[in-house]
Amino acid sequence: MAALDSRLVSIVGDKTAKVLAEQLELETVGDLLRHYPRRYVVRGELTDIQSLVEGEEVTIFAKVESTKVRRIPGRKGAIVETVVTDGRAKLILTFFNQAWREKDLREGRQGLFAGKVGIFKGKRQLSHPDYLLIPEGDDVDSAIGDFAGKFLPVYPATAKLPSWKIAQCVRLTLAALENLPDYVPKEFLDELGYPEFVTALHEVHEPTSAEAADLAKQRLTFDEALLMQLFLALRRIELRSATTKQRAPREDGLLKAFDSRMPFELTAGQKQVWQEIVMDLSGNHPMYRLLQGDVGSGKTIVALRAMLAVVDSGGQAALLAPTEVLAQQHFHNFRRLLGDLAEGGMLGGNMLGTQIGLLTGSMSQADKRSMQSAIASGEIGIVVGTHALLSESVEFSDLGLVVVDEQHRFGVEQRDALRSKAKQPPHVLVMTATPIPRTVAMTIFGDLDVSTLRELPLGRSPITTHVVSAISKPQHLQRAWGRALEEIKQGHQVYVVAPRISANDDSDLQRFGLTADELALARKLSDDTESSVSLPMNSVEELYPQLQDGGLKGVRIAMLHGRLKSEEKEAVMNRFAKGEIDALVTTTVIEVGVDVPNASMMIIMDADRFGVSQLHQLRGRVGRGTTPGLCLLVTNADEQSDAMQRLQAVASTTDGFELSRLDLEQRREGDVLGAAQSGARSHLRLLRVIRDEDLIVKAREVAERITSVDPALSKFAQLQIEIDKLRQEERASYLEKR
Ligand code: ADP
Ligand code: MG
Repeated sequence: MAALDSRLVSIVGDKTAKVLAEQLELETVGDLLRHYPRRYVVRGELTDIQSLVEGEEVTIFAKVESTKVRRIPGRKGAIVETVVTDGRAKLILTFFNQAWREKDLREGRQGLFAGKVGIFKGKRQLSHPDYLLIPEGDDVDSAIGDFAGKFLPVYPATAKLPSWKIAQCVRLTLAALENLPDYVPKEFLDELGYPEFVTALHEVHEPTSAEAADLAKQRLTFDEALLMQLFLALRRIELRSATTKQRAPREDGLLKAFDSRMPFELTAGQKQVWQEIVMDLSGNHPMYRLLQGDVGSGKTIVALRAMLAVVDSGGQAALLAPTEVLAQQHFHNFRRLLGDLAEGGMLGGNMLGTQIGLLTGSMSQADKRSMQSAIASGEIGIVVGTHALLSESVEFSDLGLVVVDEQHRFGVEQRDALRSKAKQPPHVLVMTATPIPRTVAMTIFGDLDVSTLRELPLGRSPITTHVVSAISKPQHLQRAWGRALEEIKQGHQVYVVAPRISANDDSDLQRFGLTADELALARKLSDDTESSVSLPMNSVEELYPQLQDGGLKGVRIAMLHGRLKSEEKEAVMNRFAKGEIDALVTTTVIEVGVDVPNASMMIIMDADRFGVSQLHQLRGRVGRGTTPGLCLLVTNADEQSDAMQRLQAVASTTDGFELSRLDLEQRREGDVLGAAQSGARSHLRLLRVIRDEDLIVKAREVAERITSVDPALSKFAQLQIEIDKLRQEERASYLEKR
């Protein structure tokens, strides 16, 4: 009898096992049984041929209409041409030099046909498809074997491994399966109305009814959600069971002194979030909190207050920023906000004050070393930096708080790397400007508590966004530059964003600092767009001179991109911040966090090259002052295209949560979970974090009930085994990435 971890060889034989492993990485019984059907074809119900898309690998159920053999003029051999139909549309099957198939594929026969959909002379066809015909005769129902069931599973397949071969292997495997224990306790199954595990496996592969298949799928999807949530719930318990120093602010300390000179009052939302943070900091257990809020919602000031509280208690705080530009900006911003409070221990500095340090990769070795020793001695209370902070040579005197800005650029490992520099577990605050739908947050950041800033501070101005079609209405683009000149004349500043640095340089995308997922998405988007063939993308290095002599003639214009030296970048940013530059032609290096309130307009060239969330983040750079913001999304995309719809969606709302949801819906699951997908999350087969919201919520409830009565899982032996497996894999993937 076979268990889930039995090798497939013993069941399907050497040859097939090899193909399963090579083609689909299926090696064990469990692997194969978790290779779920994508859908089912109902015997007797023909597949809608009209809906087949060119280039897709398909398995369809259809009926043979005719078959004929044609000679190829001037060549040896013949072509068998079979027309199959669903009763409406037709599909042509072609076979070269296999005349014998004519006898097989007689008119009226029904079967499964698998292959890649091609178009030849305007007609859909499969060339050299694999097929399996239904046994003939009246009594088909009693025919034993491949078509015994009414529902034929259609599996994700490859050319060498068509769907029904997989079905055959699954059938053999199910027959050999021993009675596996169910790791979801019976009481929960009854409560949720789910079938038992083994029943579910049978029903999902060989359904007795559509309802049974559906319920089986739900149960198996729930399993994934449950294990994930249980894993995270246990991690949550584990992280919080550690003890650490309390880091409450002093009554008459640095935070108090800072408060008296804050330039504005905290919003109600900021106050609430601050309360949550202060509660955490005052406890004996480390804080693990995600602070999410739309661009401009005022996360930074909340984080700064947390850092000051930690300094008050005698500790140090570190802020990890994703880019050098952003690290520098935080550094200068903090110094400005703190004034003499940032000159503690220095002549003329405030007695209550501390010192702020900056540590980035581009600093000279000597500067780095002196900064490192100031951090190690504790002279520096707050340090802002990039990845350089993670380097082994960085040591802290007493690191009490780690703040990670714009989390989506950092994986869990980096969070952990910085955490490991503290002598006692530090408090951790993760900030993200990409508002994350609840269930995604539960899956990616399930081990963090979540605080959310929902409103923007008063005084922020609304942003209006328009789509400008550069192809169909070129005069509108002209007008856009005119509008930019007007803004500048009124003393405001303008961003012009382009998707790449220079012409014909694909590697630019990488230099923007995109993550691998964003990069893949960007590539995918540019591949999908027809216009990419005929119209080259705008680049900063081309636009800059063009605008200087054309659309933006006569204004002070500069360019910024990731390939400039960091001093240059910093100099340009500073001049722009001071208002010495009117128009900044830039890549997405300005995406995150950049704050120049006088900038009122942004023109994004080839906007269709950016993801929805990215566009939203970009435009968050304008409308930060008292003037309303204007954002123009310039595109060559077709009026009817998906890209255009995406842009219209971005133009139609400024609700970051709604856009984030839209963005995620358009991505594949792997992209949704991004860097968080490795380890434990790589097990998700059926679960879709957006679609399966209800299931995830339910699973979280069950996980919490289980862990609240029995955090050691001593009464849930099977669950314990599964969770241990996940933990081992998580550990392995963590080690791999170090
Ligand atoms: P983000 O959440 O995108 O990091 P920031 O922290 O950069 O947002 O804040 C955006 C702008 O709003 C900054 O200029 C900041 O000084 C300002 N700001 C933050 N909180 C308030 C507030 N309570 N009242 C007025 N302005 C605020
Ligand atoms: Mg920010």
